[in-house]
Amino acid sequence: MPEIIIFGKVFFLMSFKTRFFRIINPISKCFSFGGFSGFLPAGQLVLVYHLVSDEDVKHAKHLFPYRSAAQFEKDLDFLSKNFEFINWEDYLSRKKTSRPGILLTFDDGYSEFSDVIAPILLRKGIFAIHYINPKFIDNKDMMWRNKASLIVSEIIENESLQRKLIQYTDFGNDLNHDTNSILKINYQNRKKLDDIAIHLEIDFDNYLLKNPVYLTTSQLNRLKTDGFGFASHGWDHPLYNQLSLAGQLENTQKSFDYMQEHQFLKDSFAFPFTDHLIKNDFFDSVFRQNPDLKVTFGAAGLKQDSYPKNIQRIPIEIGTYSAEAILKNEIIYYYLLKSVNKNTINRS
Ligand SMILES: [Zn+2]
Repeated sequence: MPEIIIFGKVFFLMSFKTRFFRIINPISKCFSFGGFSGFLPAGQLVLVYHLVSDEDVKHAKHLFPYRSAAQFEKDLDFLSKNFEFINWEDYLSRKKTSRPGILLTFDDGYSEFSDVIAPILLRKGIFAIHYINPKFIDNKDMMWRNKASLIVSEIIENESLQRKLIQYTDFGNDLNHDTNSILKINYQNRKKLDDIAIHLEIDFDNYLLKNPVYLTTSQLNRLKTDGFGFASHGWDHPLYNQLSLAGQLENTQKSFDYMQEHQFLKDSFAFPFTDHLIKNDFFDSVFRQNPDLKVTFGAAGLKQDSYPKNIQRIPIEIGTYSAEAILKNEIIYYYLLKSVNKNTINRS
């Protein structure tokens, strides 16, 4: 979940890129994608989505702008014309394709993958790999960021909750009594979201019962039979750079154990949020401890990475831009960064 609202330097980098897209988009949209495709820096691109829905998804709407089914199909039609969709084996074998290869990935294990996304992909014969957090499978708990979005949705919809929020006394000195402050609560302080929910009488368990947010084990097994891949997105979606090295490895290993137990994929891993500030120590250890692991994924867009087995995906849910607009703008942004030697993420 590489979100718009994220923390520290990542927020600055994202907002700089978002501002750049806003400036460049009126120009790039005057040109067809054909003129850009020759400038793609890699033969294979990896895109990342989270969810596709025509509904008002309270637990996600304040985190990222998701596609409607029609918008998603429009993206796929554009991508089909300009790329060749590849499956997981093609990606790992670097299969040569006549047009640039493109791999679709999804993060977070949202139930819409079963209800909305998979039927579209199956109809079009497109493969996707989905990075999931085992802790939330079967709707046993809600991911902390989804809790934040749900609380904010309920407050906006209900004036009495707005008044009640002001009475909540335990926000801490760095936060105000507003919805932005709720969205800024970080992984380490995630318990505060439970406390606020209790104060506002928002029942996460009841919400999950009425609105299954995540995929279930039986859905995962059916989708696996349909040909989709499932792999690790960490155990419970922490922001990795807020964990110690031991915490990063523990969270990852716990999720790999789940993949092993359920016979899902163990040869890739996608960082929750971002791999920003993740050091070589983590990569060296996780690849050494997991001989099946071949690649890890960040979501920093078109960028190289000093750790060769860590590949950056392109986040597609940015503003209201189509996949075509995002790819054009990513290509321009890549060459802007390259001109000042900033197109590689260097790790220590
Ligand atoms: Zn995520």
